[in-house]
Amino acid sequence: MIRRSFATAVASLLAVATFQLAGSAQADGIAPLSVDPKIAAVLGSVSAKRLEALDTRLVGFGTRNLLSEKLNSRTRGVYAARDWVAEQFREIGRSSGGRLAVDFDTFVQPKTDRIPREVETSSVIATLPGDDPQRGVIVMSSHYDSRNSDGSDATRDAPGADDNGSGTIAVLEAARALAPMHFRATLIFATFDGEEQGLFGSAHYAKLLKTKGVRVEANLNNDIIGASLGPNGEQAPNEVRLFSEALPPDAVLRTVNLTGSENDSPSRELARAVREIDGAYLPTMTVRMTNRSDRFQRGGDQQSFAAQGFPAIRYVERFENYDHQHQDIRVENGVQYGDLLKYVDFEYVARVTRLNVAALATLALAPAVPQADVSNKQLSYDTTLSWHPVADASHYEVVWRDTVEPYWTHARDVGAVTSYVVKGLSKDDWIFGVRAVDAAGHKSVAAYPQPLR
Ligand SMILES: [Zn+2]
Repeated sequence: MIRRSFATAVASLLAVATFQLAGSAQADGIAPLSVDPKIAAVLGSVSAKRLEALDTRLVGFGTRNLLSEKLNSRTRGVYAARDWVAEQFREIGRSSGGRLAVDFDTFVQPKTDRIPREVETSSVIATLPGDDPQRGVIVMSSHYDSRNSDGSDATRDAPGADDNGSGTIAVLEAARALAPMHFRATLIFATFDGEEQGLFGSAHYAKLLKTKGVRVEANLNNDIIGASLGPNGEQAPNEVRLFSEALPPDAVLRTVNLTGSENDSPSRELARAVREIDGAYLPTMTVRMTNRSDRFQRGGDQQSFAAQGFPAIRYVERFENYDHQHQDIRVENGVQYGDLLKYVDFEYVARVTRLNVAALATLALAPAVPQADVSNKQLSYDTTLSWHPVADASHYEVVWRDTVEPYWTHARDVGAVTSYVVKGLSKDDWIFGVRAVDAAGHKSVAAYPQPLR
């Protein structure tokens, strides 16, 4: 027997330890999500040609200004457009087994400082019931109303081809793609009225869901997703922005959210999950997470959902052209103003629609988001996580990232357990999350730690 020197023994032990560390870090590195062939097949059915035909029809209603509701016309005005949108949903429902229910959410919006009179407001809501009654709803939304330079002008043209014909046709096309499928969660396809003067339609509907005790698991709002060319010639046919707010306006959550971070919230986790799903299904598209509730001093219908405490995000094209938004159609100094069809790139709308479809299908097939917490009972360099079991979860995954990282960087399959100790990683230095995974590999949004209820 050869007696090794102490130095040699230490060196070989170090080599083993280093190898194990490298090995485990590599194993924990986050891998791309696996692609479900059923979902991939559905993405292929999204058609730029059909999207163009739909937007052409929508723009053909002349104006969809909220205040044009009294025109009493079948060919012009917001209600003519509303009835046409509803008919599209009904036709989609008929061709997919009659499971899609189509309703109006109609109410009288009182006068505000942004509208000259009270106005009957009417959103179109199509609901595809999920197979699991315990699950909540996932809402894809847009607004179908439009405006020109004068928000109260109910008569002159306001084509709204991009704002927000683009989002409305995406909702219709996503409904067409998904209505034949079965999901655990309920999918709602919403096209709201009265967005331009103060998010009236979405505020009413999100509040209605809250009042009825409906759990909105996610809102994916689409508003201005049609142009791939910016005002200075910027080309971004493969980029879209995804807005999400940080902490919800809930003071209690703020004070008890000791174990999360300023960069974690239900909406932000949703954005991370959607970006990850989108990256797996459409790797050529860059989904650019933008960490604010909406663009500077501007708003969108996702804020109505966030205001009720629901996770909500917004897709928007990369470079908006303000000459084409909220403008009377005119030429001034050789510049064409107006939200015209010719500025919409329907192949681009098709790609953004596919991003939505991939995310909606994955989240509606995946198990629900767990409720998870980090134990802070004792100071330790290990991190103990525990969570409530979720129906249909075959196992769970613990994810983490450095506190300054924007996205989850590490994931570990921890099996069918409801608590787990991550050895050697301190909760001071890392942000942790837990997600539920079903037998087919569909992953829920990650839950960031909050006190268990
Ligand atoms: Zn808009």
